[in-house]
Amino acid sequence: MALVVQKYGGTSVSSVERIQAVAQRVHHTVQNGNSVVAVVSAMGKTTDTLVNLAQELTSDPSRREMDMLLSTGEQVSIALLSMALQELGQSAISLTGAQVGIVTEAEHSRARILEIQTERLQRHLQEGKVVVVAGFQGVTSKEELEITTLGRGGSDTSAMALAASLGADCCEIYTDVPGILTTDPRLVPEAQLMTEITCDEMLELASLGAKVLHPRAVEIARNYGVLLVVRSAWSDAPGTRVIPAVPKPRSLENLEIGKAVDAVEFDQDQAKVALLRVPDSPGVAARLFGEIAAQEVDVDLIIQSIHEGNTNDIAFTVGGGALNQAEAVAEAIAPAWRNHPTPAPEEAEVMVERQIAKVAVAGAGMIGHPGIAATMFATLSEAGINIRMISTSEVKVSCIIDAPAEESSWADSLTSRVIAVLCRAFEINSSPVQLPTPNRTVATPPVRGVALDMNQARLAIRHVRDHPGMAGKIFGLLAQQNISVDMIIQSQRCRILNGVPTRDIAFTVSQADAEAAQRTLQAIAPTIECGEILVDAEIAKVSVVGAGMVGQPGVAAQMFETLAQRQINIQMITTSEIKISCVVAKEQGATALKAVHEVFGLGTQQETQAPV
Ligand code: ADP
Ligand code: ASP
Ligand code: MG
Repeated sequence: MALVVQKYGGTSVSSVERIQAVAQRVHHTVQNGNSVVAVVSAMGKTTDTLVNLAQELTSDPSRREMDMLLSTGEQVSIALLSMALQELGQSAISLTGAQVGIVTEAEHSRARILEIQTERLQRHLQEGKVVVVAGFQGVTSKEELEITTLGRGGSDTSAMALAASLGADCCEIYTDVPGILTTDPRLVPEAQLMTEITCDEMLELASLGAKVLHPRAVEIARNYGVLLVVRSAWSDAPGTRVIPAVPKPRSLENLEIGKAVDAVEFDQDQAKVALLRVPDSPGVAARLFGEIAAQEVDVDLIIQSIHEGNTNDIAFTVGGGALNQAEAVAEAIAPAWRNHPTPAPEEAEVMVERQIAKVAVAGAGMIGHPGIAATMFATLSEAGINIRMISTSEVKVSCIIDAPAEESSWADSLTSRVIAVLCRAFEINSSPVQLPTPNRTVATPPVRGVALDMNQARLAIRHVRDHPGMAGKIFGLLAQQNISVDMIIQSQRCRILNGVPTRDIAFTVSQADAEAAQRTLQAIAPTIECGEILVDAEIAKVSVVGAGMVGQPGVAAQMFETLAQRQINIQMITTSEIKISCVVAKEQGATALKAVHEVFGLGTQQETQAPV
């Protein structure tokens, strides 16, 4: 007999008829010989309605009272589903998060799950009951019994945490689309259904804006190796399987706040090419990476920082062996930008660094744990290591670091020093020295899916002193405020102010956190002697994700070229091994998404809409 956790989203339980249909499906699953825990969301748009009600009273409601309010939505749907099941002759019982014992942090509105007490659940399951559990909510420690919520969309996370805690055979997420599609079908109707996707790819897609799954749910699937399936609540089609890699054994205590980093990776065979002061206009990145791809050179990280005046800097890394070729391409095209129609105040310049290394910490859910990047930066700074480039993704924070030129055997001593300090900081016993080969257990196309995030804001800190410790200080402070930071980019250009070298640091945060982030930074600006702190919410982030882009030159070039053809200027670029993200103007976001989706051949005529 299998144990299945099924989660039904808001649209799937939006009316009495739909609740009856869900009850039928649950009942059918039991009749097929399974035990079922059903996790449900609030009916339809209930949560939004409750949020609006609060906003009619106050523009700044207390987070505790918001949790008290929003958690009522799920309480309605669990009772109704349980009644519908009983009506079918299926014994069932509804339980709130507190009644189950879904214990969370005391962090209202975005609590993470610490532990799920499964005794009561197990007892009801043994009695042959379907247990209907309220998603999205939990309770703090026994003494306080404060009701908490996990953050919008958090019922997916409740379901996955229950599946992991109960050792379920599978967690099925039923929703209003047939599964995970190549992008949001509301924005691109041609989006195509995937039959499977790896956890790492889905983590990136979910955190880059694909709302179909709460990123933290995918994190749990990855960490505990639970099979996750996304399916339509209206059909029996198999949906999409999210394939977990084989996880390392892990305790169920501190479920969502346990070890977020499971490996430290080091790659000393890296070299960096930067093009400084290239025109800030569409087509520049496309031309550069188009030429590089034509030479079959595989680019690793690409970073484009915020512009200054009418020019920009673009930097990328390649394996050491490809440096000469990459440098030659950059040198060959730089002159074209020296006589650009909007002349730059200073001329485009190519800068090459041979003695650099890439160090990364990897694991699921970097962005859900705001302290990871900060800890990494602080650890490197304490070891006296200066960070040259930073690239963040949902599964990895990578830093390009200086290698001391004067040490003859710099590579070996640096490798062991960096690995040792990071392993200590993240409590990792052993770590691979070289980057592991990517997981190839399932077919991995270069681009699996694309996503658009319109809910981000960009912050830029001008003129941050260029010495070890600054990034650690800045992001450490933001982490203390529980602000998750994405896309951290240090400018390549170094500006000497009063004899001190400085660089700009730009990053993105969710719009909801932008004001708090700005306030936090403004408070320390005098101490760190940085320049202005700028905020821009008129941005959109377009990303492509695919584990197969590793070792495939040309994916980035194709994305940049597509945007250039639509006259879309790229404001910022970051990449990881399996994703490329570009920040563009907000009003161009949807056009950019459609264009990129099309160019990678992801569209099809397939029907993807749910029935009304
Ligand atoms: P539920 O209420 O069931 O949790 P959500 O609205 O949270 O449903 O998530 C489903 C929605 O996610 C879909 O209706 C779709 O518009 C959106 N979506 C965004 N990106 C994707 C994607 N890549 N694949 C499928 N759906 C997506
Ligand atoms: N009802 C909550 C929300 O609308 C949780 C969820 O549906 O996952 O965000
Ligand atoms: Mg959802």
